[in-house]
Amino acid sequence: MVTEVIDGRAYAKDLQATVTDEVSQLVARGVRPGLATVLVGDDDAALVYERRLRRVAAELGCDYVGEALPGDASEADTVALVERLNAEPRVSGVLVLRPLPAHVSDTVVQRTLYPAKDVECVHPTNAGMLMMGRARYVPSTPAAAFALLDHYLAASGRDPAEFYSRSNLVVVGRSDNVGRPLMLLGLARDATVVSCDVHSYRAGHLYQHTLRADVVLVAAGVPGLVTAEHIRPGTIVVDLGINVVRDEPAGRARLVGDVDFAGVRAKAEAVTPVPGGVGPVTDLCLLRNVASAASQRLQNSSGLARMTS
Ligand code: NAD
Repeated sequence: MVTEVIDGRAYAKDLQATVTDEVSQLVARGVRPGLATVLVGDDDAALVYERRLRRVAAELGCDYVGEALPGDASEADTVALVERLNAEPRVSGVLVLRPLPAHVSDTVVQRTLYPAKDVECVHPTNAGMLMMGRARYVPSTPAAAFALLDHYLAASGRDPAEFYSRSNLVVVGRSDNVGRPLMLLGLARDATVVSCDVHSYRAGHLYQHTLRADVVLVAAGVPGLVTAEHIRPGTIVVDLGINVVRDEPAGRARLVGDVDFAGVRAKAEAVTPVPGGVGPVTDLCLLRNVASAASQRLQNSSGLARMTS
């Protein structure tokens, strides 16, 4: 069997056309979706992400507001900025870039976000709705992984719903923003879901779970963690890891995932590469949530107008 390399860039191109169309339809109805990001400090990865979102928003025809505070800004200043964006009509969705400085609480800032504008699904109300299988917004990275997986299953002639309902999904990594939402999206698709984290690894249990999986989704932040030995032939492997490694002695930086791509490729049914897999789809999923936020607001305001006319 030839292993399929799931092409995230090709899928992202199609998705970009779809989201551009959704944005155009909103603009034609008088609403331009707008994303605001909040950067506190000057973390390199956050700055790179901020620049990328600014570009993708422009390509899709969305407004973009990039707010920045110095690294010594207080928690109260950060909360006040988020409150201002909550009230700003031009802003449909707000993303607080991480990491925040240690003296600014993630939890306090996340709770300040107005849930209707919480397009990355970090507010407890939205996270709770995701847990109940009634998500208002799906966080962008897990959304991208499942969008790619759903697309691959359909393109390879399977009914995704039927496939998931008889499949074992193993999620490696259990963070609030990636691993846990991946589990919930698997459960929402009626899959049998097993969650592994660093404790499963230390206990030596990773293999016993991944070797029974039909799909392995990996988001651990450990380069090359999942190897050919972790999977059986026919497994579909989705790699969400993004790690910068340096080849010695030249020291050139390159991006790798959490999966040993060459080894796994020799055994799996299909695998997503890094770069070029989940990554290119992620920003589009976030901007799609921004368009959805704008659309919900439009519906609410026209409902209100009908009620008051
Ligand atoms: P995190 O550090 O918050 O969480 C990592 C999780 O992996 C934890 O649950 C931890 O217990 C688990 N883990 C760590 N070592 C492990 C091991 N040896 N075996 C099994 N589990 C282990 O990281 P995160 O924010 O969830 O990010 C995970 C990866 O996903 C990173 O590589 C990150 O760069 C990447 N990421 C990608 C995107 C994207 O757009 N594709 C977005 C966010 C994060």
